[in-house]
Amino acid sequence: MNFIETRGNDGKHPVEVTFSEAILAPIASFGGIYVPKTLPDLGQTFLQQHLNSNYKVLAKAVLNAFEIDIDSAVIDEALNLYDQFDDPNNPVPLAKVKEDLYVSELYHGPTRAFKDMALQPFGVVLSSLAQKRNENYLIMAATSGDTGPAALETFKNRANVQVACLYPDGGTSDVQRLQMVTEDASNLKVIGIHGDFDDAQNALKRLLGSATFKAKLKEQHIHLSAANSVNFGRIIFQLIYHIYSYLELVRSDAINLGDKVYLDVPSGNFGNALGGYYAMKMGLPVEKILIASNRNNVLTQLIKQGQYDLRDMSVVSTSSPAMDILKSSNVERILFDMFGDTRTKELMANLDNDKHYELTAEELIQFQRIFSADFCTDEEGKQYIKDAFAKGYLMDPHTATCFKAYDTCRDKKLMTIAYSTAEWTKFSPTIANALTGEQGASDSDALKAIAKEANISIPDMINSLFDKDIAQKTLIDKQDIETEILAFL
Ligand SMILES: *Cc1c(COP(=O)(O)O)cnc(C)c1O
Repeated sequence: MNFIETRGNDGKHPVEVTFSEAILAPIASFGGIYVPKTLPDLGQTFLQQHLNSNYKVLAKAVLNAFEIDIDSAVIDEALNLYDQFDDPNNPVPLAKVKEDLYVSELYHGPTRAFKDMALQPFGVVLSSLAQKRNENYLIMAATSGDTGPAALETFKNRANVQVACLYPDGGTSDVQRLQMVTEDASNLKVIGIHGDFDDAQNALKRLLGSATFKAKLKEQHIHLSAANSVNFGRIIFQLIYHIYSYLELVRSDAINLGDKVYLDVPSGNFGNALGGYYAMKMGLPVEKILIASNRNNVLTQLIKQGQYDLRDMSVVSTSSPAMDILKSSNVERILFDMFGDTRTKELMANLDNDKHYELTAEELIQFQRIFSADFCTDEEGKQYIKDAFAKGYLMDPHTATCFKAYDTCRDKKLMTIAYSTAEWTKFSPTIANALTGEQGASDSDALKAIAKEANISIPDMINSLFDKDIAQKTLIDKQDIETEILAFL
């Protein structure tokens, strides 16, 4: 199956590209992105057929339905990485929290956050494409915490790929920083910046646009790419767990095949929610997708009022930092799917130029048929963490935002799947504070406090981080980044 462009064609880009082309060069005409030309039907017949398939078998069937131009052996190798999750037979376990609320846990991979769901297999696919074409890629990432560790982990020691990862020194949790700076491989470079996440992200953008930098890369025959979630190579792996979680509900007799459910998604860049949207379009029985945000509530505004308005907005730091995002890139794919390329181009140009766009009344109705949204403050989130813990469920602050959406966004009493995107170990100071009231604990102390409170042990892979050697010691000012990366290459 081929891929087309969200903002139409400029006469310079191809009108259609293959899956591998969309992965290797994800930016399309007019700054648009790629979307599948058509979607396969994965409705009742497909669901029935895969009622007892394990995760990998289901995943393979979904990827096959897209008819992507990736060798079957490469897909198998990519999917085998799910064998390294906590339970290879069930990489995405579902926990019952209330009669009509189940939590699908997407964090059982190597870096304990949901980015692994897509980045793990994506690393294999990208590296194998690079080898096949005899090309070398530099993957650049700026991270506030979860993408960095997941990207480093997946590309570590992979052929034809190097990674340069920028993080704000002091702007991530200790666990997230240690996950990055203890990664020791010759194709990885982790760079701490004096500054905040915006400084890291702006430095990355400047570099991606720098003519001298690109010329230097070209001299060394290196192509530049980014590991962010506009890449459809990540999105395709995010369809699968929505279908899998639905089938898990059927298998556990919580619903019958064909019953509608709510999907309740903690959202930032909208990749996770977009996966749910495509699954629904392909035939998964979904009543609505609930979009949970934190105080950076642009998505709630869009879905409630039809306005995407960044004019008086600046990012606020919250205790769910992976959702501290204002420009939610994957919304563009929804606009395209609902309103077509001409309208998408117009709306996105408004956003780029005027920091604002507005849907028509009919367009808003169309949005609200599929989505409902609410946001959760840090204080509310803390209360949800505390209440859930009192009933026996330990969750992280991103997951907590879904509990607010569960309370406020449903108009029917249907079964709800909420997605948990990070393990408690990654955001322990916030959780410890919610459970014990203790303020300002270090990660290490907070982990111990939670473990004691919950009577569980700290997973080895987290504990051992504190004893590992620091392999990545670079800590520099932002104007020195270019020189540092060129020296690494
Ligand atoms: C990335 C991330 C999110 C947001 O997911 P999107 O697909 O960008 O909407 C939520 N929670 C955690 C822990 C994340 O790492």
